[in-house]
Amino acid sequence: MRWFGSMSRNIGDAMGALSGEYAGATPEQVLAVPVRHLSAIGPDRAQLLAKIGIQTARDLLFHFPRNYEDLSDQRSIDHLEEGTVQTVRGVVEEVDGKSTGFGRSIVGVLINDGTQQLRAIWFNQPYMRDKFHPGQYVMFSAKPKYHGCRWEMTHPKVAWLEGEDDRPKTEILPIYGLTEGIPQYQMRRMVAAVVHQFAAVPIEVFPESMLRTLDIPSLTDAIRNIHAPTDQIQLARARRRFIFQELFILQLALAIRRWQQQTQRRSPPLPASAKMDARILRLFPFELTSGQRHVIRQIASDMAQNRPMNRLLQGDVGSGKTVAAVYAMLLAVAHRCQAVMMAPTEILARQHAETLAGVLRASRVHWATLTGGTTEKERQSILTQLAAGEIGILIGTHALLQEDIHFQNLGLVVIDEQHKFGVRQRATLRTAGSDPHYLVMTATPIPRTLTMALFGDLDVSTLREMPPGRQQVHTYLIEPGKRAAWWQFVRDQLTSGRQAYIVSPLVDESLNIAAASAEETFEALANGELEAFRLDLIHGRMSSREKQTAMRAFRTGKTQVLVSTTVIEVGVDVPNATVLAILSPERFGLAQLHQLRGRICRGKYPGYCGLIGEPDASPKESELQSPALASEFCESSPSGSRDRLIAFTKTTDGFELAEIDFQMRGPGNLLGTAQHGLPPFRIADLVRDAAVVEEARSLAQKLIAEDPGLRHDTHAKLRRMVLLRYGKALDLGDVG
Ligand code: ADP
Ligand code: MG
Repeated sequence: MRWFGSMSRNIGDAMGALSGEYAGATPEQVLAVPVRHLSAIGPDRAQLLAKIGIQTARDLLFHFPRNYEDLSDQRSIDHLEEGTVQTVRGVVEEVDGKSTGFGRSIVGVLINDGTQQLRAIWFNQPYMRDKFHPGQYVMFSAKPKYHGCRWEMTHPKVAWLEGEDDRPKTEILPIYGLTEGIPQYQMRRMVAAVVHQFAAVPIEVFPESMLRTLDIPSLTDAIRNIHAPTDQIQLARARRRFIFQELFILQLALAIRRWQQQTQRRSPPLPASAKMDARILRLFPFELTSGQRHVIRQIASDMAQNRPMNRLLQGDVGSGKTVAAVYAMLLAVAHRCQAVMMAPTEILARQHAETLAGVLRASRVHWATLTGGTTEKERQSILTQLAAGEIGILIGTHALLQEDIHFQNLGLVVIDEQHKFGVRQRATLRTAGSDPHYLVMTATPIPRTLTMALFGDLDVSTLREMPPGRQQVHTYLIEPGKRAAWWQFVRDQLTSGRQAYIVSPLVDESLNIAAASAEETFEALANGELEAFRLDLIHGRMSSREKQTAMRAFRTGKTQVLVSTTVIEVGVDVPNATVLAILSPERFGLAQLHQLRGRICRGKYPGYCGLIGEPDASPKESELQSPALASEFCESSPSGSRDRLIAFTKTTDGFELAEIDFQMRGPGNLLGTAQHGLPPFRIADLVRDAAVVEEARSLAQKLIAEDPGLRHDTHAKLRRMVLLRYGKALDLGDVG
């Protein structure tokens, strides 16, 4: 049997040319051979491959299929169903072909398998007619369609059989990500050639014992089966191996990092005595919630150690994380250490400064703020005082504090990430000989799998309950027919003394997307629905002075309506603002919407959030150029976002929303690896492979407990892979 148009012919001999040249080379050197030197590829196609990052034999070997065409679903014709690729066998009864004019033609082949007839059709391939004759046994694979009274397949894949009893092995064909100029069949051939020659070259990653206990195929078998699976079971085993491997390497890296932090770094122990605890708590104008007390106990117990705290504090917007951070900073100061707090934006840094000013009104702690708005003279004076240890607490923006600032005795770094995750890019703020304790705060509740997968090196505290007196927020998806009523409601709220935020997603119409721009929105509202009120505009392109002026005017009530981009998203606190309108909400992730909504439950009035969607902008299928584009488009199509938006109107629990976003959009949109400064996964998917994450994590922790530096011979390849992939991103040094 042979498949027509398939790749299985003569792969081997294309590759013969190179063998023999590798005597004495290491596997790495062999795999590093540039693809242009491979006879199956050559310089021209090598240039095309380079565009998708494929340079060497290794790259092609690990260019995994993004999907498969399964021709192994064999059925009798009377059991066919529409929708999937299926394979039938039968005897040819009739062959017909006709020209339909203008060089067009149709060839039809009728087969019968004893249950029914099926007709295969080829358009404009007149030569197909000569390939069939009655009495011949053939096999067709395609998506069948039922036409009138008979099953049909258009342009099926064909195999010519030896006779009625020829039961050929059917194939699962790989579908690769392509680049222009290289069609699928050529990519298949090139990969097949490389697999044929190189699959046995890479050194096994896992120790023998692990392969056995985990029951996973060897690297070589897995490479062969992921590209050219013999059946679905082998394919699943191969995929599982690579998914596990990818997650395991990351978990090893995280476990090593954690081990390093605990054994190799030193920090000043800053325990909380009962007296310090009482003195600090007295400064807060309210009783701490039990959640806050619990978190503070965890933090204080970390800080009492002589190794650095590495704690992630997650809690919804407004859950009172800042209180925990201020407590930790005051604890450091009580030990005559310095503390610094980094905020993602200037607005937030100022807000933290105000909170701190309130708490420290009756205390002698010396503190300062450093932002883009600080004058050069002030800045110099602050730096001098910091170096001399005269300033106990410094608050500033991430950007400013990454600079070379010298502390006399830095004991604690608090990083307020809000939704911007740069956890990995911690500033290297240190004083000679010791590391500060680290507390990272995030207002984006993180789904459990993600916490495990990406923050395995951190301890995690969670604030789930809100401080008492938090107001409810009502959320509505405003249908087009209800717009007028919504704006009337906004006017009523403004008239009764409340304030409103209007959020639009883009600063200007620079992209050809039908998203409202803040400037346009401002113009439209100021001259339309909200004409009678005092409006102002704030966006990321304004200078920091302009932004401050706008924020102050809004906070003091001078402006009633603030039209903005997402700059208000992070932590801004104006209790009198109770109305929020979000334009084009489908352009935001749930986490972001949730952050925005957190702006309007800060005072004594309930909040109202209106989601004002775009008119249905879903592209018609015929307008999309390629199926690949179509599938990308559909994932973020308005109908999918509608489900998300409806979910959003139904709950205000950030953790629940995070899980929904995670399930519906995947980690990439929420906080994928890239946002953490980690390289992306090739094959693992944190939503789909949640169970594997857990398995990989527990095995990695066990292995690192036994062999922290991966120094054992059988772990050499694991060690190399960990360093290659995560050494830099996680600052692992030379591991052990
Ligand atoms: P987060 O940083 O988690 O968004 P904050 O720490 O800014 O939250 O707290 C939100 C608001 O709740 C602030 O106005 C703060 O003063 C108030 N708050 C915090 N903890 C308590 C508490 N235990 N009791 C009453 N109000 C609190
Ligand atoms: Mg906060």
